[in-house]
Amino acid sequence: MAHPKEERSLIILKPDCVMRGLLGQIIERFEKKGLKIIGLKMDNIGDVVIEEHYAHLKDRPFFAGIKRFMKSSPVVLMVVAGFRAVDAVRIIVGPTKSYIAPAGSIRGDFSMSTQTNIIHASDSIESATLEIKRFFKGDELFDYNRLDYQFVYGEDERA
Ligand code: ADP
Repeated sequence: MAHPKEERSLIILKPDCVMRGLLGQIIERFEKKGLKIIGLKMDNIGDVVIEEHYAHLKDRPFFAGIKRFMKSSPVVLMVVAGFRAVDAVRIIVGPTKSYIAPAGSIRGDFSMSTQTNIIHASDSIESATLEIKRFFKGDELFDYNRLDYQFVYGEDERA
């Protein structure tokens, strides 16, 4: 059973991450933080899914460019889980504009771009729920405890 205090976040490792050979380094950051990877797969994403996923940007002049970019190679889709995971993941990722993303964040360390910014991560618990359903079937998500669970979290955070 998933822990009652556990949140889930949907992560997409975008084509620039795949094509630049950065997958291992990026995934490692989430593992090191103590987050639990409960889903992981590679896939191509098409226009319909991109239009749904980035619906809030569909009228922006750069939307066609986002579509071309997101289809330019397979992506890696990942679900991570943990106490306060949604906020923790966004902080690890950094702000959209990579050129102002703080050093130490993924976008701050690996990218200069606003478009090719390595990674997507859910921005709230509500969007995480929708996004996980968009990209993962129930049987593609796995439940287990990491061996370091009792040291990654304090007693009240895992109670
Ligand atoms: P985030 O990915 O940080 O949640 P948004 O939801 O605002 O940010 O944007 C989604 C994605 O669309 C960005 O990660 C980026 O790839 C692309 N994007 C956003 N703004 C721009 C822009 N001004 N020019 C080009 N691409 C953009």
